[in-house]
Amino acid sequence: MKILVLNAGSSSQKSCLYEITTQNLPENPPKPIWEATIDWTANQNYGILEIEANGVKKDFKLNPEKRQEGISKMLETLSQGETKVIEKLSDINVVGHRVVHGGSEYSEATFVTDKVKTIIKNLIPLAPNHNPHHLEGIEAIKKILGDVPQIAVFDTAFHSQMPKEAAVYPIPYQWFQKGIRRYGFHGTSHKYCSQKAAQILNKPLASLRIISCHLGNGASLTAIRNGISINTTMGFTPLEGLMMGTRSGSIDSAILIYLMQEYNFDAEKLNKMLNQESGLKGIYGKSGDMRYIINAMEQGDELAQLAFDIYIHKLRCCLGEMLASIGGLDVLVFTAGIGENSAIIREKTCVNLEFLGLKIDHKKNTKPTMNTDISASDSQIPILVIHTQEDWAIACECWQKISQKKS
Ligand code: AMP
Repeated sequence: MKILVLNAGSSSQKSCLYEITTQNLPENPPKPIWEATIDWTANQNYGILEIEANGVKKDFKLNPEKRQEGISKMLETLSQGETKVIEKLSDINVVGHRVVHGGSEYSEATFVTDKVKTIIKNLIPLAPNHNPHHLEGIEAIKKILGDVPQIAVFDTAFHSQMPKEAAVYPIPYQWFQKGIRRYGFHGTSHKYCSQKAAQILNKPLASLRIISCHLGNGASLTAIRNGISINTTMGFTPLEGLMMGTRSGSIDSAILIYLMQEYNFDAEKLNKMLNQESGLKGIYGKSGDMRYIINAMEQGDELAQLAFDIYIHKLRCCLGEMLASIGGLDVLVFTAGIGENSAIIREKTCVNLEFLGLKIDHKKNTKPTMNTDISASDSQIPILVIHTQEDWAIACECWQKISQKKS
């Protein structure tokens, strides 16, 4: 089965093609046979398309005003030129799309229909940087590949069974009925990491209480029991919870009222401040990239140190919340850019959890092999560093949906 995965964001589009030749899904993710990245904002005048396939890397300039043409060009490289991996585009069996917001309607991956498209469209106000681009990808595939099955894999789906006390905000209940509730995000990654953790520990997923820490540019924690998300730090939008690269995470909502009343902030200004100018970048000022913050902190920069300290403080506080709602811990998982690569973040996080019997092995933590346990031999709780593979997780969902349809 040939599965094309599209992961569209506001400024970039990542795509890959998996080929599954076995009867069952392989236990470990295979390497995609073709990978493409479009960076729409790489340059003021043009976007850049990079393709990697057959051991060859190619790049092309794209017109950022004509995104559909860009997606066509990207797909062309699948069956033409040095990066050709298939005879014709109709050899693709299914296309999976990462969709950030699926609302409360979907608890699992779903075939794209007109109704699904309408729901993704109606949710644009809740995910303005993502949902329009998912629709753009869906329409481009329809135009170029015709009636190939398309499947939407929602970031929100994994959290759809969160108990009501975790999903409902303590504001007048009518707003919950109008859709203002906690949805949670990064679901594909949290689900993948929980399944991988069970596989690494060789234990049934249902027997584990897991906290998954997805620490990337966007960041969230999820408490997982019986394989189900029971609490998570992101909420109505991906702004709630932890301090992130450029997002504030949770702050006292009265600050917004104050800024509106005393400083004439409107919705647009608030949105820009909280989503793009806050978090690590807001404190350090020069960058929201954790590598720069750590580097500057090591050079003695006080604001970089403060940004780092707030990040760790918020992370520990949110971990406490997840711990309390899950009622114990059988495994702690670190994943995504910071979680997978930053030894100091993992160490500072775990130090305050030693009272639980959780102990990190400093040597293993400094140079971890991916998908292994970095806890000390006398730790009562494993600490795993897992390489999240959202694209592969989306491909697996597609494979399962198509296989179910056949049988
Ligand atoms: P992601 O959104 O998952 O791609 O993660 C991006 C974040 O990971 C950025 O803040 C990067 O600075 C951070 N990151 C990547 N590598 C490292 C590293 N070696 N140490 C610290 N942070 C890192």
